[in-house]
Amino acid sequence: MATIIDGKKISGDIKNELKDKVAKLNEKNITITLCVIQVGNDSASSIYVRNKKKACEEIGIRSISYELPEETSQEELINLIQELNQRPDINGILVQLPLPKHIDEDTIIKTISPEKDVDGFHPLNVGKLSLGQKGLVSCTPAGVIQLLKRYNIPIEGKECVIVGRSNIVGKPMSMLMLKENATVTICHSKTKNLAEVTKRADILIVAMGKPKFITGEYVKEGAVVIDVGIHRNENNKICGDVDFDDVVDKVSAITPVPGGVGPMTIAMLMHNCVETAMN
Ligand code: NDP
Repeated sequence: MATIIDGKKISGDIKNELKDKVAKLNEKNITITLCVIQVGNDSASSIYVRNKKKACEEIGIRSISYELPEETSQEELINLIQELNQRPDINGILVQLPLPKHIDEDTIIKTISPEKDVDGFHPLNVGKLSLGQKGLVSCTPAGVIQLLKRYNIPIEGKECVIVGRSNIVGKPMSMLMLKENATVTICHSKTKNLAEVTKRADILIVAMGKPKFITGEYVKEGAVVIDVGIHRNENNKICGDVDFDDVVDKVSAITPVPGGVGPMTIAMLMHNCVETAMN
């Protein structure tokens, strides 16, 4: 029987631990403030922003938000971020992505002070991760590491295959697994014979954005499967990049969708907010 990795429980544990840390900081008169900026009113983004603010409330982090109109210029956004970079009362700055097309995301990410970059997307933080130095780490891959560790799943020396090479999931994930001494292979849309590669994995991490793509034929018997994908189908049901029902009998452990990696992302965002106050 496969272990079903409960991301909801682990994220709850992490949030409780952070709540204690925040209370201790508060006793020393240190408060933590996250500033969330949303440009436009994309409905998915609004839900994410709401959930982030709710998580802040749960653990005692103050959140302030800027809901800017769609037509906000790049310059206006840059000016706001620069002002927030200077404010000592603000620890973390998060610009909800995607941004409207007339705003260049890379430019905006670079504008956020690396010390306040709670998403871990700033090139300096990405570089630090590649060099094995301490910095703020992208939340979703950091959450995957927490799931593996808190379920006592050994990583060192294991064959880890990651499907997806995005800047926010696949690439930082590979660096984190390397840091944990896994032997890492990264696959992408140009990878030949994908199933042959994924079948080598002791730990298979899938972040490809293709609903239920990974079926049993892609998975080795006894592997650990981590599904980062999130998709909502026409019946409003949520699924991942992995065909859970087809894979579950073959694996030793697997994350469900929903309730696997998803809840970890916000927990690790809260972790990063607390980190900014510890420096
Ligand atoms: P991207 O679309 O940025 O990247 C997808 C990656 O998958 C690319 O590297 C792409 O290759 C690769 N890929 C696509 N098709 C194939 C294929 N047929 N074979 C092999 N590789 C393929 O997605 P993200 O990394 O942003 O997100 C991935 C998934 O994770 C999405 O479902 C997203 O919703 C979800 N997600 C979930 C989060 C959470 O909190 N749980 C957070 C972030 C994302 P190439 O580079 O060659 O194009």
